[in-house]
Amino acid sequence: MAKQRVALECLSYHATASAESTAELVSRHVPSALQLNLYSHQFDDMELDNKDTCTAAIRMFKDMNMIKKFRIPYEVLCRWILSVQKNYRPVKYHNWRHALNVTQTMFALLRTGKMAGFISDQEVLGLMVACLSHDLDHRGTNNAFQSKTDSPLAMLYSTSTMEHHHFDQCVMILNSEGNNIFQVLKPEDYRQVMDTVQQAILSTDLEQYFKTKPQFLQVVRNGQPDWHDSHNKKREYIIVLI
Ligand SMILES: [Zn+2]
Repeated sequence: MAKQRVALECLSYHATASAESTAELVSRHVPSALQLNLYSHQFDDMELDNKDTCTAAIRMFKDMNMIKKFRIPYEVLCRWILSVQKNYRPVKYHNWRHALNVTQTMFALLRTGKMAGFISDQEVLGLMVACLSHDLDHRGTNNAFQSKTDSPLAMLYSTSTMEHHHFDQCVMILNSEGNNIFQVLKPEDYRQVMDTVQQAILSTDLEQYFKTKPQFLQVVRNGQPDWHDSHNKKREYIIVLI
């Protein structure tokens, strides 16, 4: 157990953004959402360098008023974003820029599509955090690959293997020193936000998506204003940009 704790301490230290890069991001100018084209579905991250992608992420949290509403210390937000960026691998698709694009799509749905008016602030925060974190430490291989190769991850989780891992990585970063953007949240708010993050990340499993999609289409056809799971009273999430 002591060995495991030492390994976790090491992991946590190296997973976290450096003091220098955090200080640099804190002092960096954050362009407006309009300047970054964040309200549009035509947003193009290719125009941004890696540092600009971080300021774009900050802008989305600022624009949704999350920093003020949940009293997120600015330095902690900057460090957390850099740490999330650091924990994406340079794979072809499921990389940091994919996470940023998914977050921007959510942002456009919430702001331009006005979805934020239909859900709670805790859900807005949870969805934004979930989008940015939803493919953390993706290795470019899918759940079937984990299972067929008997990977340690598949031994940990037999279903939604990678999605559980992405959520675990998300929690690991939040628990690393100076990265907990939820540190001032009331216990009840914290529980609601983390529930949303977990449910939204696990919903990115394609298998879940294809199970849930017909129900979702039915809800849309019926014109139902809300979509709750009648058994556990939780809202269902369907994240289409996996
Ligand atoms: Zn994804």
